[in-house]
Amino acid sequence: MFDKILVANRGEIALRVIRAAREMGIQTVAVHSTADTDAMHVRMADESVCIGPPPGTDSYLSIPSIIAACEITGAQAIHPGYGFLSENANFVQIVDDHDLTFIGPTAKHIQVMGDKITAKDTMKELGVPCVPGSDGGVPDLETARALCKDIGYPVIVKATAGGGGRGMKVAQTADDIDMAFQTARSEAKAAFGNDEVYIEKYLTTPRHIEIQVFGDGKGKAVHLGERDCSLQRRHQKVLEEAPGPCISEEERARIGKICADAVAKIDYAGAGTIEFLYENGEFYFIEMNTRLQVEHPVTEAIFDVDLVREQIRVAAGLPMSFTQDDLSINGHAIEVRINAEKLPEFAPRPGRISQFHAPGGLGVRMDSALYDGYTIPPHYDSLIAKLIVHGPDRASALARLDRALGELIVDGVDTTVPLFHALLQENDVLDGSYNIHWLEHWLETNLQD
Ligand code: ADP
Repeated sequence: MFDKILVANRGEIALRVIRAAREMGIQTVAVHSTADTDAMHVRMADESVCIGPPPGTDSYLSIPSIIAACEITGAQAIHPGYGFLSENANFVQIVDDHDLTFIGPTAKHIQVMGDKITAKDTMKELGVPCVPGSDGGVPDLETARALCKDIGYPVIVKATAGGGGRGMKVAQTADDIDMAFQTARSEAKAAFGNDEVYIEKYLTTPRHIEIQVFGDGKGKAVHLGERDCSLQRRHQKVLEEAPGPCISEEERARIGKICADAVAKIDYAGAGTIEFLYENGEFYFIEMNTRLQVEHPVTEAIFDVDLVREQIRVAAGLPMSFTQDDLSINGHAIEVRINAEKLPEFAPRPGRISQFHAPGGLGVRMDSALYDGYTIPPHYDSLIAKLIVHGPDRASALARLDRALGELIVDGVDTTVPLFHALLQENDVLDGSYNIHWLEHWLETNLQD
């Protein structure tokens, strides 16, 4: 096992990793920008190294600075958290070249899953159901037109190099395909420097269901059920829950086994998430994330596992501490993402926290790097806290969420907490009957000035 690991991240996820390491008796090194000198992750780690000025590109994304911080402190392994360098295959290769350990999958797996076409081809080959569509990139408009006739409208044109919901255009009918194809291409070129696009059948009312997988890198893998992340704004998840309100035990076992078998076959190491759109009882693969997800705590709650501990164990060459048979679901968990943003426009509101009080009590987990008097810097993501509740069933988890939100105090900046109070009044949320478009429609009618 490692003696010391470096956490190449900030905020709540850096604390999450430091906590797991401490429980394992592992020393931790925080890295930080000059904007984060007073940040909680710096205070909580055993050691810290300043790696650059505030912009992420000059600090948390600076590969030479992070490698140097490992060398200075003698850290043997790097946990990337999520975002920043967590899915950067080049970084993983450099970590390997310096005889350090990356706590996550191999550079090769990150690369394959980072390209949407190779990811889809690989998954298809491994028996994972995919959205019907083109085999690979679509070179020109003529091919696109012919293909869409076969697939059937509506279709969605997507950038191969896409991410963050950019470079995607829907064509409802044959009249729209020329425009959708050209616009997606030019958007992709502008955003990613690569204008390759592919085409898929557009699903009109799907849910976002993702399967948590975990592999030991040596041909063994398990699944830890699904998370329903359908409540989204601009393709960003807002609330996540596990298990999915509309997934039966049989469906979970079937799709879970397909996913676990797929990652076992490629000797995948560590945590991964296979994302699907789910419509009319069918799962359609859209992408795989080769890292820990923001919403991993809901899975941890219902399976009573520590996914970060498990990531560190597997990276150190130890076997996973559970088998598929050891894993069973207990109750229901819900996470809400609390951002420092002003409603209704969700405008970022960094600033000084004059008072902070975290909710507590049975079944309540608060992952946050806030403290009284902390000043949120303007340079990073606006996520300031994740509130996770766990109860014996969905109704009790919802009641607990309502209770915990009522206890939370964040004074000094605007937050998205009022959104969650409002959502808890909605029958569709209480019933769990929403698809990926529900929140956008609700926001249009309910959150105008
Ligand atoms: P990104 O990597 O940019 O987030 P994804 O492929 O994960 O792109 O898709 C993001 C979102 O776009 C999905 O969660 C879904 O809302 C929508 N989407 C993508 N593909 C389809 C599809 N074939 N049909 C309907 N919606 C889709």
